[in-house]
Amino acid sequence: MSAPRVVTFHYTLRDPSGRVLDSSAGGDPITYLEGAGQIIDGLDAQLRAVAAGAKQRVQVPAARAYGERDPAQVQRVKRATLPVDGELRVGDQFQTDTDRYAPVVTVSAIEGDEVVLDANHPLAGVDLTFDVEVVEARVPTAEEISHGHAHGGGGCGDGCGCGH
Ligand code: ZN
Repeated sequence: MSAPRVVTFHYTLRDPSGRVLDSSAGGDPITYLEGAGQIIDGLDAQLRAVAAGAKQRVQVPAARAYGERDPAQVQRVKRATLPVDGELRVGDQFQTDTDRYAPVVTVSAIEGDEVVLDANHPLAGVDLTFDVEVVEARVPTAEEISHGHAHGGGGCGDGCGCGH
């Protein structure tokens, strides 16, 4: 395997119907360290061979993106047990706990005093198509390799949140 690169890219993400789900166009590009788990596995793997300046369409099956949908992640709970004040609507998302890493759930139905919550990632089960333009590809710094992620222009601590 060749040495990992730090890759900066712009992307437009579409679902199988061609609907745009997300795009970096008009904003900042994404920078990541290859193989470090900073972007989804299937995209990381397929961008290995793409050089700086190149554009590439990358298709990532759900299993290598946000995973397949898991029916066990759908739960029916009493409205009164939820940590949410005010009105609840289908499509609302919230964390199940105050812990910043608590899973995010989506309200998929409201039936009487019961609420159906779906803890699957909103893109679980969705095959993704990325139109990618690699803006830059460079050798990582020693600090990036030791931290296990890419740093932006300002280095670590610039919203990096890695605690180093
Ligand atoms: Zn760092």
